[in-house]
Amino acid sequence: MQSPATAPAPGAAHAAASRPAPPARKDPNLLHAHAAMASMLEHGLSPTPGNYLVWFSFHGDTAHGLRAEVERRRAVQPRMTEETMEELLFQFFMADHEALALRQVAARLEGAVTEAIGLVQDTRDDALRYGGTLAQASDRMGTEPESLNALLRRLAAETLEVSRRSEVTAARLAETARKTQELRHELAEARRLASTDPLTGLANRRQFDDALRDKLAERRPSALIMVDLDHFKAVNDTHGHPVGDQVLCHLAEIMRETAPEGALAARFGGEEFSLLLPCGVLREAVAVAERIRNRLGQCAVQLPQEGPRIAVTASLGLAMAAPGESPEQLIARADAALYDAKRAGRNRVCSDPPLPKAESVWS
Ligand code: GH3
Ligand code: MG
Ligand code: MG
Repeated sequence: MQSPATAPAPGAAHAAASRPAPPARKDPNLLHAHAAMASMLEHGLSPTPGNYLVWFSFHGDTAHGLRAEVERRRAVQPRMTEETMEELLFQFFMADHEALALRQVAARLEGAVTEAIGLVQDTRDDALRYGGTLAQASDRMGTEPESLNALLRRLAAETLEVSRRSEVTAARLAETARKTQELRHELAEARRLASTDPLTGLANRRQFDDALRDKLAERRPSALIMVDLDHFKAVNDTHGHPVGDQVLCHLAEIMRETAPEGALAARFGGEEFSLLLPCGVLREAVAVAERIRNRLGQCAVQLPQEGPRIAVTASLGLAMAAPGESPEQLIARADAALYDAKRAGRNRVCSDPPLPKAESVWS
């Protein structure tokens, strides 16, 4: 707040009030936010979250290849159109593998916009206070020469106009922040759906493949368990497909509950499930597999309307990851162990390497 005694000379105050407020701090996100707004104005684009995102990422250089692409397009056509912006948004932010990066950018730009709103709010409050001060000063100066009084009145009117414009900007920015937040929620939901099996709610094959690739690349001790329901086709044939689905959900629930901290349970495909364990000890991994098999064997699935209980079993194949092994190699070994379990009579766990008899976890 500036008192009349400390207020700058009217000319200086006028210049300060008409100029857009510069970024208060040197936070790079805030600078990118300002630059993004300026670019939208420069190209006559509407201030949509999408346009904002593209320009924010352009100025922050946070999207790989975006800067080069924008410059390439600008060389052909200097003015960016709404269509071009939409194409860039789709090309750089809407592909699924970019969703994570987009979420991070969205979070950062939301923070930047929120800060920008605070900044504009401060500017508006200051301008309002300053306008009031000028008006008072002008009233008191009735005895002063007419020209000075008129100047002060004009300044007061201009200051009010500045504050009105700031209010419009603040409302626009608030709307941008709201839309950005919505966009972030939508992205999170889209990503969740893209990585989840709709029937069981477990991770789907895509999420599982990503996690397996990352864990092996990090060379973390890992074990892979493949679970396959025994004679599941017969369950479908006897009780119908919807009951088969219920059995799949039942096994998924057991896997979810049995998975230790840090493990990823997934539907691998059809009636086959997988469990990626952060574990380098064969005996411990076999114990987890045995727990799944036992729980499934112990709790038969209750059909609705007091129908019969369906007893199901599963065969499990387990492989301990070897250093430097590829995901395909590990899956192939776990699959081979699963095949061994089927051949040996089903409803059992086989592992690669096999657990020495003396170490059997259930003996
Ligand atoms: P095995 O013990 O050798 O594994 O025999 P199986 O009958 O379990 O194996 P098979 O591969 O012959 O049959 C798998 C069945 O799983 C056939 C398919 O209809 C069923 N299935 C796959 N996905 C679904 C699903 O989403 N819902 C239901 N209800 N059944 C499914
Ligand atoms: Mg199968
Ligand atoms: Mg099966």
